[in-house]
Amino acid sequence: MTETRLWDHAAEAPEDWSAAQDAAAAKAVRVGQERSREVQKRLEASGVSAGDVRTVADLAGIRILSKDELPDLQAADPPFGGMLAVEPTELRRIYQSPGPIADPEGRGPDFWRMAPALWAAGFRPGERVLNTFSYHLTPGGHMFDAGLREVGCVVLAGGVGNRATQVSYAIAAGATGYVGTPQFLLALLQKGRELGAPLGFDRALVTGAPLPPDLRATLEDDFGVSVFEAYGSADAGALGYECEAKRGWHVAPDVVIEVIEPGSGAPCSAGEPGQVVVTSPNPVYPLVRFGTGDLSALHHETCVCGRTSPRLAGFLGRIGEGVKVRGMFVHPRQLAGVFRGRADIRRYQGRVTSEGHRDRLTVSVEVADGTDPELDALEALLIEAVAVRVALERVEPGTIPEDAPPLVDAR
Ligand SMILES: [Zn+2]
Repeated sequence: MTETRLWDHAAEAPEDWSAAQDAAAAKAVRVGQERSREVQKRLEASGVSAGDVRTVADLAGIRILSKDELPDLQAADPPFGGMLAVEPTELRRIYQSPGPIADPEGRGPDFWRMAPALWAAGFRPGERVLNTFSYHLTPGGHMFDAGLREVGCVVLAGGVGNRATQVSYAIAAGATGYVGTPQFLLALLQKGRELGAPLGFDRALVTGAPLPPDLRATLEDDFGVSVFEAYGSADAGALGYECEAKRGWHVAPDVVIEVIEPGSGAPCSAGEPGQVVVTSPNPVYPLVRFGTGDLSALHHETCVCGRTSPRLAGFLGRIGEGVKVRGMFVHPRQLAGVFRGRADIRRYQGRVTSEGHRDRLTVSVEVADGTDPELDALEALLIEAVAVRVALERVEPGTIPEDAPPLVDAR
């Protein structure tokens, strides 16, 4: 390990975070203009040159490239749609994610910058960690493998499936850490109990699937695993991760995150949900205003951990999930805005149905144990947020599935 390791506190806590973001934005556009045909074309079409971009605010003139555009872009100019800044011969691996979308892996260590996320979750050199992401086709397995090796952990390359085998493997090899989805973690812990072979996990970094509060509580309280959540993508690597405070995802170093209002394209103010848009000065795969399609919000309050980066408010849905109700567009983020931070609501789901050709929006809620929320007041908040009539209905705990979408069109 060298002094310039990626999880160096200095990279996560520059005195002036926004100056570091400005520098990264300018660098990404410069690298893109020099070496990415895709960025060159978009800059030209937007009438912006690299010299014009000195701050994050200067990115505003550049059209956002939506992740949904990648399959067509890549099909027209394979394999990477002109986005690769090196020759394909200089890559370590090429993956294929659903879409299909080709994803490159450059040759440097920890290409996706996962080490800071693992470090923040408390993983340390020598720790034995079971990695249950897939090691083929999609990059998840190698993303975490590379990050764990960068930290100095010992990787148990579990991959997906094979629960009973993975339990005995993890126990025999002395695993104390886990990376994978939270659902598979629960499945392994339950399998271990069923087999009379309890797993020795004391911490886990989870991503790739929702982590509802009750699942986190089960993993932490019933099984004693300290769970940390990370956020990222195959294209952009690590984008955010929890620190010990577990209050949102700190924006990862070396990447610029904007939260942009869908529709208007204006930057959202603090706490307001919008699309996560990534700009990355990666020398192999530079991204300039890459629209992930994910919705989140940025919070700028200082954190007890000392990192100076703002925090993303978790996953608030995908753009394009909006549903028209009585001519009004209702979006999951509007519901999320009402329920965010409410400990008295365990789960919720909005359903749009049609009764005699009239649209009806019903929001079901499961109330948390030991709480007694004022449901009339909650209904009023919902109506105010979505601007159409809402019927609030209380349902028994366990009625709404764990991975239920926040808003469904059941017409
Ligand atoms: Zn923190």
